[in-house]
Order: sequence, then C-alpha cells, then structure tokens
Amino acid sequence: MVELNRWAWIEVDLAAIRHNTALLARRAGRAQLWATVKANGYGHGAIEVARTALESGAQGLCVALADEAHQLRMAEIAAPVLVVSEQPPVAFEQMLGDNVVATLYNEATIAEYAKTAARLKTVGAVHLKVDTGMHRVGAPVESAMSRVEQISSLSSLKLEGVYTHFAAADLPQHAETANQTRRFAEFIAELDRRSMRPKHVHISNSAATLRDLTGQTDIVRVGVALYGISPSVEMQAHATELRPALAWRARVSHVQRLAAGEGVSYGLRHRLEREATVATLPLGYADGVPRRLWKSGGEVLIAGRRCPIAGVVTMDQMMVDCGDLDVKIGDDVVLLGEQLGQTISANDIATKLDTIGYEIVCAISSRVPRVYLNQ
Ligand SMILES: *Cc1c(COP(=O)(O)O)cnc(C)c1O
Repeated sequence: MVELNRWAWIEVDLAAIRHNTALLARRAGRAQLWATVKANGYGHGAIEVARTALESGAQGLCVALADEAHQLRMAEIAAPVLVVSEQPPVAFEQMLGDNVVATLYNEATIAEYAKTAARLKTVGAVHLKVDTGMHRVGAPVESAMSRVEQISSLSSLKLEGVYTHFAAADLPQHAETANQTRRFAEFIAELDRRSMRPKHVHISNSAATLRDLTGQTDIVRVGVALYGISPSVEMQAHATELRPALAWRARVSHVQRLAAGEGVSYGLRHRLEREATVATLPLGYADGVPRRLWKSGGEVLIAGRRCPIAGVVTMDQMMVDCGDLDVKIGDDVVLLGEQLGQTISANDIATKLDTIGYEIVCAISSRVPRVYLNQ
C-alpha cells in the first residue's frame, strides 16, 4: 500500500476498466469502441483510463475540450481523438496540430476551421454532428445535408464521420430514442442515395450500447459504462456485468464521544439524539463530497457498518455518527465502493441527491490523490 500525504484518496482499478472495455467491445459487435475520457476520465484519470482502454480493445477516444485532447497527445497517446462539440476558433490551430477529429455543425465554424487548416497547409478530419432531437448541439437534421455538402466542398477538410446523440437512451421507456434513431437512419439513407456516406456513422452512448441499439452504425462512444457505472438507475439490470473501477477511501482523523443533544458542524444544524461516537474524516466539499449530502441520508462505511454523515460537510472535513462502534484514528473508511460486503455505488449517492452517478465521480476534485491498481 502506497503511503500518501493525506488520509483521503481514490483507487482506480485498471483491471475493472479492462474488463468493462472488453465486455462493451463485445457488446458493440462490429462497431469500434471509442472510449469517452472527458472530464479527466469521469474523475478516474483520463490518461490512465485512455491507455488501459486502448490496450483492451478501444480504437479511439472522445473528449469534450480541445485541451483535453491536447493532454492526451502530450502523453504520447496517438489514437484517434474526437472532440465532441465545436470549440472556440482560438483553439483550432492547436486542434489541427494535435491531429484531432473535430466535431463541426455551424456553417461559420466549418468555414473558419477550414480556413485555419488551409493556412496550416493541412487537412482537418471532421465529424458532422446532427441534432435529431436532443437539442444541445448539432446541425438540425433538416439542414444537415447542406453541411455535408459544405464540408465536402472544402479541400482543407475531410468528412470522416456523421453522428448524433441520444437524449433519453438511459430511460428505456422513453419514446424519443426510436424517433431519433429513425430520423438519423433517414439521413444516412439519403447520404447513401447520394453516395456521400463518410467512413464512420455513429449514434450510441453507454446506454444505447448496453441496450444493443447500435444497429448499422460503426462506432460506439462509450463513457460511463467503461467506469463500471450504470447510466441510470433504470438501466441497472443492463449493467450487472460491469465492474465499478473507482473506490473512494479515507481514514478516520479524529474521534469524539459526544453526549445526547450536542450539536455537530457549522450551524450546529445536526443534534445528536443519543450519546454517540463521532468520527471526523479529512475530506470535504472541496474534494467533491457534496455539502448537502448530510441532509439527504448520506453515509460512509466503517468496519462494514453504515455510518450517517453528522452535520454539514465542511470544506476539508466531515463528521460521521458511528453510534457505539469502537472507532480509532486511522480506521478505514469507504465513501464509495465496497467494505466487508457492504457497498455504496455512485448511483446510490446520486439517488439521494436527485442526480446521476456521472455527477458524483466527475465532482471528485484534483486535490484527491488517485492511486492506480492492477497497472
Ligand atoms: C459524454 C458523451 C458520450 C458518452 O456518454 P456516456 O453516457 O457516458 O456513455 C457520448 N457522446 C457524446 C456526444 C457525449 O457528450
């Protein structure tokens, strides 16, 4: 065990990333798996996850930002990297220098990206994003053909793909997924009629991959499932074979025995109903533990027991009610993960906070050391 300068850290099990990548690559069938490592690999560490996924069957990577792509190139990762939305023009030179695959959809952005590529005497790889109903980014499906024609007419751009993104694939009952699939299929059929179909056509995120909605497309852009997290509580039955890669651990830094009626943490908002042992943990909301988790039934595991958070989570420390448990300074604590047969998943925490597992792991701040297991 590595000794760290702080008693709060996350462990990322790269064997779990390998297992999930292989499983999802099989599920993707003939389609390539492109591992989504945006937001520092959903909090797990983009470079380590990217390398591991690429060794285990992934053939490309997806990120949200030009600088996230740059970070991968600085680490000498040479695989295709798709930046999944348009970036500010000031980033274009770097993106072209990094040989990333740009996502484009606005007429003016396409023209500007082409101009920068021409000035650099290079050819920029482009995937056109089509909005089939999510209404976040993309060319409206009605005008997507004009964008294909525009990109195809520019010699400094090469249209290598077209794709769309599901709004509700993680909600299996939702009708919009079938509508989006149909609109996209009609667009691809029209490209085929005009013999303009690019090399890649893609639609699936994790939820769609787990639901086998990949169809005739040839890349899946898998994110959350790679980390062993179900895209939603509704999807949990589809995600049973995934292995969570991340464990969030700490050690008890201080122990007090407090009488019934004593208040704990800022505002003394929490009053002990009975005499209890209260343990302090050396991490807080600056590390990504949501401050409001104390009010929403948040718990941690100590000695395999669920101990409720007592009082507001502070910036660097938090308290938990251990009842009559014999707790000592240095004892093992699990905020997320498994301990003696008990588990707390990202989705367990998320459900308490009316959010999704993604937000919990993405919020773990860079201040928390990351330890990689099974490298
Ligand atoms: C984040 C993202 C993904 C990955 O989504 P998951 O639900 O994590 O699999 C795929 N495509 C796009 C466009 C994204 O923004």
